[in-house]
Amino acid sequence: MSDSIIPDISCSTCRALCCRLEVQLIDDSDDQVPEEFTTLAEGTYTVMKQGLDGYCDALDRKTMLCTIYQRRPFICREYQEGDYDCMIEREKL
Ligand code: SF4
Ligand code: SF4
Repeated sequence: MSDSIIPDISCSTCRALCCRLEVQLIDDSDDQVPEEFTTLAEGTYTVMKQGLDGYCDALDRKTMLCTIYQRRPFICREYQEGDYDCMIEREKL
């Protein structure tokens, strides 16, 4: 993730809350996510697989870091710490 737009909000203190959201892969993006981490939702669109704990399968549960950071989906690359969606997830804490 990129630098936070709100100084006190940091991924390093959050334990990857946004990595429990459904992450859809976008057909015409340059996503190059390893197939083992993806699945078809409702038989129609591709998403990141999630474990029983709700977290994305590509998340290392010990470090809480993305194991495919350089190849993470477009949606993950666009998600910015401190923005509206991030704040909504943190509010749920
Ligand atoms: S919810 Fe926000 S602060 Fe937490 S990991 Fe995601 S982008 Fe970072
Ligand atoms: S691909 Fe990486 S950044 Fe995106 S939800 Fe999964 S673990 Fe998080």
